[in-house]
Amino acid sequence: MNDQIKALNNFLLAAEKIMLFTGAGISTNSGIPDYRGPQGVWKTRQPVYFDDFMSSYAARVEYWDFKLESWENYKHVQPNSIHRAIAKIEKAGKMLLLVTQNVDGLHVLAGNSREKLVEIHGTDRLVECMQCHEFTDPDAHFELFKKTQEPPTCHSCGGILKPATISFGQSLRQDDLQRAYDAASECDCVLALGSTLSVHPAASLPLAAARRGIPYIIINRGDTDHDGLSHVSLRIDGDVADYLPAAVEMGI
Ligand SMILES: [Zn+2]
Repeated sequence: MNDQIKALNNFLLAAEKIMLFTGAGISTNSGIPDYRGPQGVWKTRQPVYFDDFMSSYAARVEYWDFKLESWENYKHVQPNSIHRAIAKIEKAGKMLLLVTQNVDGLHVLAGNSREKLVEIHGTDRLVECMQCHEFTDPDAHFELFKKTQEPPTCHSCGGILKPATISFGQSLRQDDLQRAYDAASECDCVLALGSTLSVHPAASLPLAAARRGIPYIIINRGDTDHDGLSHVSLRIDGDVADYLPAAVEMGI
């Protein structure tokens, strides 16, 4: 393990414009369920597709009910040692962009700036009006939903409100994708942390960077879709928490 931490530290030391890509595996230590893992939400719930959400009142109730569970859970969760290590990489001036598949908002709570963050699958920490695209704080909407069991509507325009997470069947935000691809073409090192790299197009982002011949480091417990690719410089199979914080603490 120590050799791998040292190798990781060497890559961090040498890099100046790191792109970090994070997935569900870095938030499980904070008590956020991994949707695809053994206790995954999709084992007990049917996902609500975007078209159904927009066209069906019952689907909107189902989705808000599902998101109410996450919202209640967020009152108890805090960033963990991995989030804090990533915030230190930004503070050290070495991070070009942080791209996360996670919708839990923990990178911002750990101290990463929004300017250098792309939440590629959106965020549960905001609610978006699907008509006027105003973003609002979720708390009041969830309180109302808890009381009425009716999906909330926009105060400004009466449009359908939706937690600002990208749903199945919903397009990613083009400006977010563009910022991520710009970073992939500019970074000098790319780290994929706690992701199985199996969800597209998100997983194509670190690969686009790696194909330029820059160092590509993958840390994940269990298999990833990029295992065995010649672009991978360092592959660590294990909990990111056992490696990244220690490598950052060695000094970067
Ligand atoms: Zn609106």
